[in-house]
Formats: sequence, C-alpha cells, structure tokens
Amino acid sequence: MTLAERAAREKTLAAAARVVEACRLCTIGSTRTHSVFGEGDPCAQLMCVGEGPGETEDRLGRPFVGRAGELLEKMLGAIDLAREDVYIANTVKCRPTLDAGHRLANRAPTPDEMKNCRRYLDEQIEVIRPRVILALGAPAAKSFMGERFSITKQRGQWYDGPFGVPVIATFHPAYILRQTGGAMTEVKRLVYADLKAVRERLDAPLPPPAPAEQPSLFE
Ligand code: URA
Repeated sequence: MTLAERAAREKTLAAAARVVEACRLCTIGSTRTHSVFGEGDPCAQLMCVGEGPGETEDRLGRPFVGRAGELLEKMLGAIDLAREDVYIANTVKCRPTLDAGHRLANRAPTPDEMKNCRRYLDEQIEVIRPRVILALGAPAAKSFMGERFSITKQRGQWYDGPFGVPVIATFHPAYILRQTGGAMTEVKRLVYADLKAVRERLDAPLPPPAPAEQPSLFE
C-alpha cells in the first residue's frame, strides 16, 4: 500500500465522517452527544463491526472504548493484533437510547436505524476493502447475513459480505462480559475458535489477481 493510497483513504473516510456528523436521518441523530463514525487503520486487513455506540462511545465519539472495548482489545491480542492494526466500526453511528426516567439507557438499534446507516458502513467497507469482516454479536451479524441468522448456531462460519469481503460472526464482547462461571468459559472457548479462524484466513495466501483482459492477437 503506497503512502498516497493510505492518504487518499484517510481523506475519503474523513469526508464520510463529516457527512455522518451532519446526518439526521434518525431521531437518534438528534439525541446523541457525538456520532461515532469508526476508527483504525484505513488499510486494515480486519474490520470489526459492532452493534452501535454505548454511553462511553457517545461521550467520546470513539467506538469500543468502554468495558466491551477493553475485552475486544484482549480478543484481538489473542490473535496477535493490536487495536491500531484493525478498523473498528458499528452498524449504526449514533447511540440508540431509550428514556429510563432519570437517565438514558442503551437499546438495540431498530431495523430502520440500521437501514439508514447502512450506506455509511458500506462506504467504510468499500474504502478499506479488508480481507475479513468480524461481526460482533447478533445485530451486526444479522445486518450482513440476514434476519434469520442465529449467532449461537451460525457463528464461526464464513459468509460472503459486501464487496465480496468474507464475513464471520462471533459473540459480542458485552455478551461475553455478562456470562459467569462455566458459561463464560464455554463462550470464551467458542470465541477463541472464531478468532483463530480469522487469523487463519488473514494468514492464507491471497488468491492471484484475475488476469487482465488481453486483446487477442488474432482478431
Ligand atoms: N458496543 C458496540 O457494539 N459498539 C461499541 O462501539 C461499543 C459497544
């Protein structure tokens, strides 16, 4: 990757982030503190896609910076990746909230919110063209594989994602953190298997580029 290509990607992503900042397609565009566009290496081989910003992310304008983010960094470390090596985004860029009386609570993004925000996620994928997308949790996985996707039954398998990028799903770090005892051990074992599949895919040789169309000498 040339420095010029990296700079061009950074510029395109920065412009897209400004569009997201001004976006008011959903009501959460007006209730959020900051939009959370995404961050990381614009030339990353791995893109992690979560559900949507939580309270800490909304306050800081950065993805996965709360407890789930700490665990995500440990998960990446298990396959020799640092946070800076990957690109981290979400299916929605504004924090979905509901009024819980004295405070705002997190909620899952609605299908309409995910649909409105999809253009921004697709643009990120198109610019970065990672070798692998890791969908974190059921909402992110469903946004790629469809509503009928079952995270418990279909995690750890490869699917075709946007722009031909392979997608694999695993449990969301926040879900892992909610487990206790033996359930936590089992979920961690499954997540590690999924992460190893990601590592193997990243380490596999790239398929040779499709041959350029040659004009026939005999036409
Ligand atoms: N959970 C998510 O899905 N995304 C974040 O950015 C933080 C927590």
